[in-house]
Amino acid sequence: MDDFRLLIDLHKHALRQGPGGDAETTLALDLCMLDKTEPLKIADIGCGTGASTLTLARQLNATITAVDFLREFLDVLENRATKADVSEKISTLQSSMENLPFDVEEYDMIWSEGAIYNIGFEKGINDWRRYLKPGGLMVASEITWTTGGRPSELQHYWDNEYPEIDVASSNISILEKCGYSPIGYFVLPEHCWTDNYYTPMQERFDDFLRRNGNTNEARAIVESETKEIKLYNKYKDYISYGMYVASKQPWS
Ligand code: SAM
Repeated sequence: MDDFRLLIDLHKHALRQGPGGDAETTLALDLCMLDKTEPLKIADIGCGTGASTLTLARQLNATITAVDFLREFLDVLENRATKADVSEKISTLQSSMENLPFDVEEYDMIWSEGAIYNIGFEKGINDWRRYLKPGGLMVASEITWTTGGRPSELQHYWDNEYPEIDVASSNISILEKCGYSPIGYFVLPEHCWTDNYYTPMQERFDDFLRRNGNTNEARAIVESETKEIKLYNKYKDYISYGMYVASKQPWS
């Protein structure tokens, strides 16, 4: 099995594929100051197995297009939606976030947790804007420096992994420059990384290795995830996901 298939196998059994939490999804939703009974059309881009999609579906009178380029994740999401009795609110769409088949001004809200980095924060914010109605809401979480300076080991790691990583003030400036009015920002707390993401992943390592014959490739995936977890634990004072909430300026 190639590395990509192995990564899918490790992550598709998880409730979420990145740091986050139901309470934090709800907090971001509350920052939007919506009437939750109002009918809304939402796209959840890079939805994975649907952690945020299900939370939104439970709380809103919405139709949600859950977008991911991996059918395996969308299949899990559909099963979870059926079990949670919200499947009538959700339709899945297998598509690249770089080439979305949406109409101009189709959506009231675009939601994207832990996924916009795949296209780049500025490009995603810019490209996806056209799909929002005037005054529509953009909610995205993005890996963010939480301090102005940081140790060189950490800087070096992220310069290689994702050079676009920046401080919140820069990301908020991007939102303003790209025709949005920022509404709110908060930092995901530590439990979103540990209890909700890393610990369940570590608990899946043994089964994952067994399923995949304990091959060198499978062990390399576990080593790489373990390295990321160690780095997070060492440097969590300097880095987190930021949750950004903004509305599309009606006149831009
Ligand atoms: N939002 C989910 C969550 O918080 O659990 C998933 C986050 S995971 C870190 C990123 C997701 O983006 C994955 O499900 C991955 O399949 C999806 N993804 C990556 N690149 C993509 C692309 N170019 N187009 C669509 N989806 C993509």
